[in-house]
Amino acid sequence: MTRLTGVDGADALAILGPDETALVRELDRTFAGWGLAAGASEISAPPLYPVGDLEKFDVYTNFPHLALVAGPLVTGEHAGKPVGGRFGAADLREAAYGLPHATCFGVYLYHEGTRVGRSTVVTLVNRCFRNEDHYGGLRRLAAFQMREIVALGTYEHTQRVIGEFTERIGEFGAALGLRLDKEAAVDPFFAAEGPRALLQRLAPVKHEFQHGGLAIASVNTHRNFFGERCDIRLGDTGEHAYTGCVAFGLERWLTVLTDLHDGDVRAALDAVVAVAERAS
Ligand code: AMP
Ligand code: ZN
Repeated sequence: MTRLTGVDGADALAILGPDETALVRELDRTFAGWGLAAGASEISAPPLYPVGDLEKFDVYTNFPHLALVAGPLVTGEHAGKPVGGRFGAADLREAAYGLPHATCFGVYLYHEGTRVGRSTVVTLVNRCFRNEDHYGGLRRLAAFQMREIVALGTYEHTQRVIGEFTERIGEFGAALGLRLDKEAAVDPFFAAEGPRALLQRLAPVKHEFQHGGLAIASVNTHRNFFGERCDIRLGDTGEHAYTGCVAFGLERWLTVLTDLHDGDVRAALDAVVAVAERAS
């Protein structure tokens, strides 16, 4: 792996070498395979979106600290050059693109204004970007890969999918000899005040699978938040769809599995292949 020194010397970006890439690919193939076996269709999304689309999800209200945005440069007479490794505000034009911090936004935007079946499952992998307050190599990156399996349809369907994958992640961790703790966590998709936030406090809507305190996957219940924001409705009743997602941070799986095998990436890859073969 090659570390790229980011803003202020942060250990925020990495280029994975061939063995690390092979392990990330194998993990992604495994998680995508679970989704496909559960009836998922796979889609592909761009790594950035119009800011106006991400704004629909209150991204800039609830997660402004995580947000990164992009726009073109001033050109011509007033064009600037990077100074000290960065462009100044005066060098930039309006930032109309937002770099997403989660993969599943692509699913809601893909289905915007459409009707879905009561038991829809979609999977995709994408780059995610987070302006974290500190970085730590593969454990906490500014840009990383997240595979998601997303359930759309009835509330019961979303809970079935989340239950199924909660079990699957536990079994996979156990088969690899990877200790995972399931912890309730908070994801402030919903405004801090109001009925949804109250609901979230009463019944946790996010659980993380942590290894030594590091979350490597999460399961998330959004109720009908994204269904309403993107006007995604159930084909039969016309009600707004409920959604839930299962998210895997691929570089975090890479780093904890590599540590488990004392830094031997190939041994970690062999272990993942062996477990995947046994399961199929
Ligand atoms: P979350 O939406 O916070 O549940 O994130 C989903 C998954 O992405 C987490 O379980 C982690 O595996 C991974 N993840 C989140 N933030 C980072 C980061 N800064 N660097 C690497 N992986 C991350
Ligand atoms: Zn998600």
